[in-house]
Order: sequence, then structure tokens, then C-alpha cells
Amino acid sequence: ALSDRLSGIFESIRGKGRLTDADIDATAREIRLALLEADVALPVVKTFINEVKERCKGAEVSKALNPAQQIIKIVNEELIAILGGETRRLNYAKQAPTVIMLAGLQGAGKTTLAGKLAKWLKGDDHSPLLVAADLQRPNAVGQLQVLGERAGVAVYAPEAGSGVGDPVQVATDSIEEARRKGHDVVIVDTAGRLGIDEEMMQQARDIRAAVNPDEVLFVIDAMIGQDAVNTAEAFRDGVGITGVVLSKLDGDARGGAALSVRHVTGQPIMFASTGEKLEDFDVFHPDRMASRILGMGDMLTLIEQAEAVFEEDQKEEMTQKLLKGEDFTLEDFLEQMQAIRKMGPIGNVLKMMPGMGQMKQQIDAIDDKQIDRTSAIIRSMTPAERRDSSLINGSRRLRIANGSGVTVSEVNQLLSRFKDAQKMMRGMTGAMGLGGGTKATK
Ligand code: GDP
Ligand code: MG
Repeated sequence: ALSDRLSGIFESIRGKGRLTDADIDATAREIRLALLEADVALPVVKTFINEVKERCKGAEVSKALNPAQQIIKIVNEELIAILGGETRRLNYAKQAPTVIMLAGLQGAGKTTLAGKLAKWLKGDDHSPLLVAADLQRPNAVGQLQVLGERAGVAVYAPEAGSGVGDPVQVATDSIEEARRKGHDVVIVDTAGRLGIDEEMMQQARDIRAAVNPDEVLFVIDAMIGQDAVNTAEAFRDGVGITGVVLSKLDGDARGGAALSVRHVTGQPIMFASTGEKLEDFDVFHPDRMASRILGMGDMLTLIEQAEAVFEEDQKEEMTQKLLKGEDFTLEDFLEQMQAIRKMGPIGNVLKMMPGMGQMKQQIDAIDDKQIDRTSAIIRSMTPAERRDSSLINGSRRLRIANGSGVTVSEVNQLLSRFKDAQKMMRGMTGAMGLGGGTKATK
């Protein structure tokens, strides 16, 4: 499975402190193979791998996560993105009834889904009508009637389930029936074939034209593997679809179909079918699917926890320092700037907040390049200098400038900005009545 393959890769980079480009390339190659093995279509794999590589290379060194965890985090986020990000809801018609048409190959799970969807809608205070427009298979109408009975939902079928008639006519008449009986949603089950054929596509197109559905849901068996792409393309072009339903996710489907179908159709996966019973049905959650494909649910939880704990630690550390009246150092200064950069556009909001006037200059001075230069300068200082900036005299300034590739005047500017920030931090400590220490009240 994909998860096994990936855990193998991650095992090998787990111990590393930092990832090289070569590490990233090697990892990407392995992920690529794993995805292909999981039956994800090649173009999808390519797009995916490029995104992941790009992000891994641009990733900041994280203090909270080790490199393996960082890659998992990125892969997971990209999986969620390619699976559609947020869950999309059903489009309801402005004027009832809302018409939902189902399409897909025979055996995909359309009829079963019709029953599940009807039951789900009924539980959500809708009054659905199931429509048997599959007159191809001998027992299709009977199957829908049984499901309708179980779900407690009305079924519209031609001539009391005789199974003969024109599916387009049945679909058309069903809309009238829904209006008469006050059903606000109509679910039209249609016929499928074992393979894609023109007659089937034509029939689906005709039904679509006749009932003008608000949603055309393409139902696809998640076990279908590489065929997912061809099938999805055929229905996308032949019928036109507005959403996807993945069925048989209870099996050992490797998840590749989900990635491919979403990518090929550009339409969201809206529901997941996970068994033969009417209850085995849920709204599709991209994040859960990503975690399933990755097969690293525990690892993802661990990553979230590590990040949360790390942030708490950082805040706690700073508060403790201030409480103890310890001085604000160049190290703290750097950390603070990096934190503000992480906030992104929030920095702009901060500037506008009352009382932040003093900070304005600090925030303005912060852009990515500036931070890189600042951190280079601070890293060129000795630990003692970082703790006590008063040690930094003229000759030390020159050494630091040479060491970090900047001019002495840039070092001076940094030190003066730092002194302002330090003064402000002392002021804040004093104002809050914190810090019994000497430095805070100096
Ligand atoms: P249709 O031809 O597209 O209407 O497909 P059906 O709804 O008749 O389903 C075909 C077969 O798949 C039936 O035996 C269903 O019970 C089964 N089936 C449908 N959905 C699921 C599912 O989510 N999980 C499992 N395990 N079986 C399913
Ligand atoms: Mg059917």
C-alpha cells in the first residue's frame, strides 16, 4: 500500500537534521512510484510531485518538526488540496424540486447510492422522490423499490414496476409527480453498461436534457484503479457532471481513483459510499481521505501536537523571561521578527491597531530579505555578543559585517533597531508591573 511505501521512505530520512535537495529528489521519486502503484493516473502524479517538491525546497527549517515530519505534513496538505480542499454541499434549486441525476457504469453503485442519498436527505428534513429511470436491467426497478421502502421514501416507477417504458419519459413525468405530491428533491437513477458505450451516453444525455438537473452526480467504484481516468473522462465529456460520488470505499481501494477522478473531472467528490447498508454513507471529507491514502493518521496527530506544543513553549519561554525581568536579547529579537513574518498580512493589521504606533517602524522594517540579512548578522555574532549587545564595539562591528557580508552601517542600523525594541520591551514589562529584576526597571 501507499502508506507502507511512504513509511519506508520516511524511515530513512527520519534521523536527518536537515534535508538536502538530493534527499528531496530521492523522496519525491519514491512518492511518485508509490502513487503510481496506488493507481493514480500519471498526469496527476506529475502535478502532485511538482507541488510537493516545490514546497519541500522552499520550506523553512522547522524547530517543531523533524524533516520527515515536515515532508509528511506537506504531502498531506497537498493531498487534501488535490482532493478538493473543502467539502462542497449540494446545489439546491431556487424553485423546488431540486433534481439530482445519477450516472455511472453498471455496478458502480448508483441504485444503492440513490437509496442512501434519499435516506440522508429525508433525515435532513427533505422530502425526496426516487425515480427508476433504469429500465435496462431486469430487476433495476424492483431493487429501487426495495431500497425506497427501507428508506421510507416514495419511488416513482413506470407501470407499477413492470420495467418497460421509456426512461426519458419516466424521468420527465417524475418531475410533475414531485410537484403534485410536494417532493422537494428528485433523485433520478439511470442505467449503466459494463463498459462505456455511445447508446448509454446518448440515453444519459437525453435524460439530462429532459429534466435539466441541478446536479449530475457521477458514481464511481473506488476499486476501479487506472480505469478511473478513462471512465471519468467519458462521463465528463459524454454527459457532463457536476459532482462525484466514490463508492465501495469500504473495500481495500487504494485511493488512487479518488485523486485521479477529482483531477480529471475538475469536479468535487461530494459523497462517499462505504458499504451495502443504507447507513454506509457520508459526505466526502478530503482531509480524512488524504489521511487514509497516506495511512499515517497517528503520525499526523503527532505532527499537530508537536506544532502546538512548540508554539506554547515559545510563548511560555518569552513570558517567563519577562516575568523574571531577564533582558530581551538579540536572539529574542530575531525570533520575534520571524514570528511577525509568519503572520504575513496580519503584520499590516497590527500596524493599524491603537497602541502599536511604537511598533510600526519595527513591523515596516520586516520583509523577507530584511529578515534573512538580519538573521545572517545576528548569526555572525558570538553567543556572548548576542546576550549582551553592549559588548559590540567598533572592531567587533567590522568583524560581524565582514562575517555576514553586509556593511558596518547595516550592522549599526540593526543594533539601533534592536535597542529601540529592547527599550520597548523593558517599558512593557514595567508598565505591566512585571519583573522584579533590576534590568527591567533600569
Ligand atoms: P448500479 O448498477 O450502479 O446501480 O450499482 P448497484 O447500486 O446495483 O450496486 C452494485 C453492487 O455493489 C451491489 O451488490 C451493491 O450492494 C454493491 N455496492 C454498492 N455500493 C457499495 C459500497 O459502498 N460498498 C460495498 N461493499 N458494496 C456496494
Ligand atoms: Mg442500478
